[in-house]
Amino acid sequence: MPPFLPYGRQSVDEADIAAVAAVLRGDWLTQGPAVAGFERALAGRVGAAEAVACANGTAALRLAYTALGIGPGDAVVVPSNTFLATASAARHAGAEVAFADVDPDSGLMGVAEAEAAIARARHAGWRVRALAPVHYAGQTAPMAGLGALARAEGLAVVEDASHAIGSVDLAADLAADGETPVGACRHGTLTVFSFHPVKTIAAGEGGAVTGNDPALMARVRRLCNHGMMRDPGPGEGFADPEAALDGAGAPNPWYYEMAEPGFNHRLSDIHAALVLSQLGRLDRFVERRRALIGRYAARLAPLAPLVRPPAVVPWCRPAWHLCAARIDFAAAGRTRAAVMTALRGLGIGTQVHYIPVHRQPYWRRRYGDLDLPGALAHYAHTLSLPLFPAMADDDVDRVADALERVLA
Ligand SMILES: *Cc1c(COP(=O)(O)O)cnc(C)c1O
Repeated sequence: MPPFLPYGRQSVDEADIAAVAAVLRGDWLTQGPAVAGFERALAGRVGAAEAVACANGTAALRLAYTALGIGPGDAVVVPSNTFLATASAARHAGAEVAFADVDPDSGLMGVAEAEAAIARARHAGWRVRALAPVHYAGQTAPMAGLGALARAEGLAVVEDASHAIGSVDLAADLAADGETPVGACRHGTLTVFSFHPVKTIAAGEGGAVTGNDPALMARVRRLCNHGMMRDPGPGEGFADPEAALDGAGAPNPWYYEMAEPGFNHRLSDIHAALVLSQLGRLDRFVERRRALIGRYAARLAPLAPLVRPPAVVPWCRPAWHLCAARIDFAAAGRTRAAVMTALRGLGIGTQVHYIPVHRQPYWRRRYGDLDLPGALAHYAHTLSLPLFPAMADDDVDRVADALERVLA
């Protein structure tokens, strides 16, 4: 039998290994030149003024919400089709989560779904502060419309781009230069990334926040490191300049101030070296993922209408993170569990992205049973098929053939 195909897998090469080994031989295991180098490279790659690297995508979300001053009494609009963390991080900040429905085919939150969630949140008496669109599977949420909605309502936008490093927003409405990489925050306030091994580039554990507002990014950076300030950020000064500054007006080397309690959400140099090395291959990874999705589209076409490839939206050029196929399990007369088990027996791993977050026991206890039919419909038909850069073209054929057999 050919080797097992997981639904996702990192691609680590000898250059990655050498980069990590070089850190281990050097002077800095954390917060050294690899972290700083990665932050510069990431900001440059996505076209943001600044990037702050952090421990994981969940930490990035928490830093973003907290830096925006989101807390008790506030609400964040989160699509129900996402990983737990988009919502949990808002709750940890003390905020309520206004779950939004999604398009059942693309799994993305649109403007109408966000508007409905805002209305529900206001009805509940919450002060809506931010939209947190999720670029599910690597396709962008409709950012032109969501950005306009946020501006009209006075909301921040935190893009959860855990799936979407390398994706490009075609931003048809923006005459200027047309195309915007995800992370540039053209329509949003902050963007967060995850570098978990199943995502497009891997740190092991890692994340980042990108943005363009210097004061906001200074706050993200400070919160990431205990709320400590050694150098005043833009537009700030030390509260106690007499203690902070030496005779020449420079900060004393031992001095730090805490204006608010922060976290230790730092990234280590060991992880940063790996993800910096991986970032250099991002274009190749993205190109390979696109080619594999193209082959899936062709090879799954004959299985319609039982199986349909991922729904494609027109406003982006995605760096596909998932191949979220749509399968009519009822029409096939098979449960999803039976299909997944049969595929596993043929050496093929699959996964489900996602159980709608609003259905989790914690959120049901808190908010009762919300009516989000798009999220339930998406959940009912979604199955993530293997997708990672080291896959061969005939691996796609193998998956399509196996699906045909299992569903026959
Ligand atoms: C992976 C993921 C996260 C969390 O990232 P971690 O690095 O695992 O903490 C958040 N949101 C989405 C959509 C994700 O896929």
